[in-house]
Amino acid sequence: MNEKPQQGGELSAKEQIRYARQIMLDDVGMDGQQRLKQAHILVIGCGGLGSPALMYLASSGVGQITLMDNDVVELSNLQRQIMFKINHLGQAKAKAAAKVLASLNNEIVINAISQKADENNLAPYIECADIVLDCTDNFATRYMINRICHRLSTPLISAAATGYQGHVVSFDFRQPHSPCYECLFPERSDNPVDNCANLGVIAPLLGVMGSQQALLAIRLLQGEAQSAVVHSFDARTLSQKHLGLTKNADCSCSRQQKAEL
Ligand SMILES: [Zn+2]
Repeated sequence: MNEKPQQGGELSAKEQIRYARQIMLDDVGMDGQQRLKQAHILVIGCGGLGSPALMYLASSGVGQITLMDNDVVELSNLQRQIMFKINHLGQAKAKAAAKVLASLNNEIVINAISQKADENNLAPYIECADIVLDCTDNFATRYMINRICHRLSTPLISAAATGYQGHVVSFDFRQPHSPCYECLFPERSDNPVDNCANLGVIAPLLGVMGSQQALLAIRLLQGEAQSAVVHSFDARTLSQKHLGLTKNADCSCSRQQKAEL
């Protein structure tokens, strides 16, 4: 389970046709497309962010995708979780998502995990992945994913969206001085429960932010990392701001790192 696909990096004639519009880009080419084929991405959360992120990663030819979610599809999800349709209501999201992605691209490996991400089960999945996408909707899970990715030096691409505001940021934990999610949002006992369920969200914003997560992942695999920059998007004005992020020497990941030296 979760091994790299045994298919080598070579692209079949069919794959060369499927991905032709990417292969013709100078900074992708055959080499870049082969790198996508050899990559393994873990996506945690198959909701509003996970839907577009997963669909673009699958259609772009990422060779192995592991997705994790323990929810079932509900009617109120369909406004923004665009992978799911009426016939998926009541089904486990992970399994329904895997079927949708397999129907989109049958050349790739998809592993569906119908479990809630927790301290006990997450590390082995992260360890097998080249990149992790955090598409969850609450602070507690985001801090946990951040800590484990930091500990295992696995790049993390985190996004969030509520109301009309969204942000996305890539943390390349292969770099020892990379800041982390906690450097951006210090952990407090009174962190708000600011998810879509209680604040609302305009549907296409999830498409924008989830697509940007997929884009950052592909750029990272191409070696064109834009790490430690917070990209904020305002869905009312369509304006985007970019803010460089520095490491907080006192966050829990930094303290852990120092303790291990
Ligand atoms: Zn930090």
